[in-house]
Amino acid sequence: MNILTDYDKTQLRQYITEKYRVKPFVADQIFGWVLKGADFHEMTNVSLALREKLSADNLTTGISIIDTRTSAVDGTQKFLYRLWDGNVIEGVLMKYKYGNTLCVSTQVGCRMGCRFCASTLDGLIRNLSSGEILGQVIAVNSLGGGERYVTNIVLMGSGEPLDNFDNVVKFIKDVSSPEGLNISQRNISLSTCGLVPEMDKLSQLGLSVNLTISLHNASDEKRRLIMPVANKYSVSEIAESARKYFEKTHRRVIFEYTLIDGNNDSYGDALRLASVVRNMSAHVNLIRLNPVKERHLRATSDANAKKFLSYLEKAGVSATLRRQMGVDIDGACGQLRRKFMEENAVE
Ligand code: SAH
Repeated sequence: MNILTDYDKTQLRQYITEKYRVKPFVADQIFGWVLKGADFHEMTNVSLALREKLSADNLTTGISIIDTRTSAVDGTQKFLYRLWDGNVIEGVLMKYKYGNTLCVSTQVGCRMGCRFCASTLDGLIRNLSSGEILGQVIAVNSLGGGERYVTNIVLMGSGEPLDNFDNVVKFIKDVSSPEGLNISQRNISLSTCGLVPEMDKLSQLGLSVNLTISLHNASDEKRRLIMPVANKYSVSEIAESARKYFEKTHRRVIFEYTLIDGNNDSYGDALRLASVVRNMSAHVNLIRLNPVKERHLRATSDANAKKFLSYLEKAGVSATLRRQMGVDIDGACGQLRRKFMEENAVE
C-alpha cells in the first residue's frame, strides 16, 4: 500500500512526477500538504483531477481513529486507531495547562517482554512505518480541529521506539520539520527500556529530543526479574550511555521508575537508584504501577511512594512522583494494548 507520509521529499517528487506526469513543484506542494496532515480534498492548489487520482491510488497516512474514550477523572482521551491492514493500536492524549501531549505508539505490540506491561502481552506483531507514527498525530489534530492541537509528543505508547530505529528517526524529523507540523524536538520525548547501542546511535544524530529511560531497578539482578532486556545491557552501561546522550545533546535525561510493591520500593532500592543517577544531569520520574489484569504485580501504596521520593531527595536526586492519568480508561502507562473494543465486547 502506498502511504504518502512514508516518503521523503526526494522520493515523493520522483514518485509523483513519474506516475502522474506533473511538474516537480506540484509534487513538492503535495509533500507539504501531506506532512502537515491534509487530506487529498484539502489540497486546494492541486487540480481536482489530480486530487482524485491521488486519492484513488494512495493513502495519506493509512490510519484513522475508530473509537475514543474520555476519562471522567482528568479528561485524558484514549484513541483506538485502525491501520490500513486491519491492525489496531492505541494512543492517549493528556491535556495540561501548557498544551496537549500525545502519547504515540511505534510498534503493533512489543517484543521486550517487560513483566508489568500490557503492550508486550502478544509479542511484536509489526513495526509501524514513520508515516503511520506521524498519522497518529495527524488524526488527533484533525479531531481537535487544527494543525497545532497536539503540542507535545511522547513516544511512550506500545512498542520499543529504538527497536524500530529508522522509522522513529524519520518520524521525529518529519513531525518537527518546518514544512510540516513543526513541533519542536524539545517538545518530543523518546522512551526506551535501555537498548544501549541504539541510544548511542541516537546521540550521534544531532537531534534535540528528550531521552527517557525505563529503569525500574538499579540492581542488574533484580532488574532482570522484571525486564528481560536487562540480560543484555547492564545498568552501568545504560548510565554511561545516558551520560553520553547528555554530553552530546545537553538535554537532561529522565529515568522512569515504576514503583512495584515489595519489588523495587525499599530504602535500599532508593539508595541504589540514587547512586546511579546522582552524579549525572538526570531526573527521576516515579510512578506507581498501573494495574494490568494479566499481571500479578501490585502498586506500591501512596504513602510508601512518597517515602521513596523523600529517600531520593535526601540522597540529592532530583525526582518527582507523577500523578497517574487516564487510569479509569486503561490509558495510563503500560496499559496500552492492541484491542480494547474486542475485550469490552467479551466482558
Ligand atoms: N518501550 C519503551 C516505551 C514504552 S513507554 C520503554 O520501555 O520505555 C511506557 C512506560 O510505561 C515505560 O516507562 C514502561 O516501563 C512503563 N510501564 C509499563 N507498564 C507499566 C505499568 N503497568 N505501570 C506503570 N508504568 C508502566
